[in-house]
Amino acid sequence: MRSPPRTDERILTSDIFEREDNGRSRPRPDWGFWDEPGRRIPVYHRCDVLVVGGGPSGTAAAAAAAKEGASVALLERYNHLGGLSTGGLVIWIDRMTDWQGQLVIRGFAEELFDRLPAEAVAGPPLADWGSQDPAKAAHWSQRTAAYHGIVTWSPTLDPERLKLLSQEIVLERGVKLVYHGWAAEPITEQDAGGPVVKGVAFESKEGRMAIMAGVVVDATGDGDLFARAGAAFDNDIEEADIHHCMNTAWLFAGVDMNRWIAFKTGEPEAFTAFMAKGRETCGLFERPFVSWRNDVALFMGPRQSGYSALDVDDLTAVEVRSHRAMEQHLEYYRAHAPGFEHAYMMLSAPQIGVRHARRLKGTDAVLRRRWPEGTALPDEIGVTPAVSPKFPNISIPYGALVPEKLDGLIACGRHISCDTNSHGFMREIPQCWITGQAAGVAAAVAVAAGVQPRAVDIGRVQAALLKQGVYLRPAQGAPQAQPALAAAGR
Ligand SMILES: Cc1cc2nc3c(=O)[nH]c(=O)nc-3n(C[C@H](O)[C@H](O)[C@H](O)COP(=O)(O)OP(=O)(O)OC[C@H]3O[C@@H](n4cnc5c(N)ncnc54)[C@H](O)[C@@H]3O)c2cc1C
Repeated sequence: MRSPPRTDERILTSDIFEREDNGRSRPRPDWGFWDEPGRRIPVYHRCDVLVVGGGPSGTAAAAAAAKEGASVALLERYNHLGGLSTGGLVIWIDRMTDWQGQLVIRGFAEELFDRLPAEAVAGPPLADWGSQDPAKAAHWSQRTAAYHGIVTWSPTLDPERLKLLSQEIVLERGVKLVYHGWAAEPITEQDAGGPVVKGVAFESKEGRMAIMAGVVVDATGDGDLFARAGAAFDNDIEEADIHHCMNTAWLFAGVDMNRWIAFKTGEPEAFTAFMAKGRETCGLFERPFVSWRNDVALFMGPRQSGYSALDVDDLTAVEVRSHRAMEQHLEYYRAHAPGFEHAYMMLSAPQIGVRHARRLKGTDAVLRRRWPEGTALPDEIGVTPAVSPKFPNISIPYGALVPEKLDGLIACGRHISCDTNSHGFMREIPQCWITGQAAGVAAAVAVAAGVQPRAVDIGRVQAALLKQGVYLRPAQGAPQAQPALAAAGR
């Protein structure tokens, strides 16, 4: 186990647990090969924009492209939308306000929070965003919504409500939604400038079929499509960050989180002893986070390092280890944690928690060296709060979504182009909504103009994003309209 030091440059510091075999697993046996015969497959659908992956970024992309008037299909391998924010039980939505309390993650995110039922969301009221009142900050710091003594809009929510709402939004906009379809291969054609993505072959219970599209949005999180189409990517990691760790999250129900928080804050010595004994007893060990209800606890660890999200044996190993850890934690918490005496296993996440696999090499990137600048890049398609009040808000360039070379495809979500430090926050759900919405709008604008995503008129993309309620700081002369805050009462 490693416990990297606390720093202002990370979203979260936590214990990191090494893989069980210390990375020395034996290579797979050589079982030889089988030559798969070529075959003709039916075209299942044709559209302007095909979004592959229905996580936060893919859902935002599909909704945004459809709002721009494009015909859109959304392909998802599982039975729900929301990706890790629902199926992965990552129900703590990270900071959407900056350190002054201003909401900078707007657009699609704001629409979601305006429409989610009040009972599905737990977080500070709008009036307290940015508050430095010590009592308020102390209260919310135990509930994932205050850092550095400042109250932030970073609520927890009910994953089932988010699944349902995400689905209804895309259906309302006429998106062709396809569940239970696993994109297997990008369909590419060669032109003078190199390969151009024209669609995707996918597998389902019906066998293999194709969807053809003007632009494909890769929102798989792992860069499955851009990598298979030959686009360059990075996969280096920041060892001290948790962004390379994997685990399957889970929920315990039947708990009293207020009692747990009272123990944690009111009896610091007993809490330290509890944690030390937990690490000793369970090996892998994690503390709970609040959820949208007092009687449900969220475990987003233990965080495991040294596994690859692209290796099926590693994915299996992380599942096995996480499920075993869930049982060990239940036993230990029931016996020793105030508020957990009657806990029971509610759910382990249907989707494995992958924070990092590949990152696109784009025409530009979100870069650590730009954090202190605070200026809007000319091709800004979104703004993210910085990890700490030490830095100003950070500009997200359109070039972070566009592959260096590949055409016909645009990327969004946790695999966009950024360095390892910036990945620490660019992979978070709010940022994935932002890059997803931008990718969807840019794809629709590109198809309407008959150009490749790299050649879109960025002014038109920015104008459309502003119209969709995204927070931007466009260059002088560009439209400045920004809708008023609607999230009153939250
Ligand atoms: C354990 C854990 C804790 C985290 N904690 C937080 C937190 O507290 N706050 C926060 O804001 N963020 C957190 N994150 C980060 C955040 O959850 C993810 O980075 C974010 O959900 C990524 O969104 P995405 O749309 O890029 O990808 P994903 O959410 O991974 O969605 C990708 C979707 O694509 C689908 N898909 C993938 N491949 C294919 C294919 N070939 N064909 C069809 N469909 C496919 C998947 O099924 C999935 O639904 C955490 C992540 C993890 C793993």
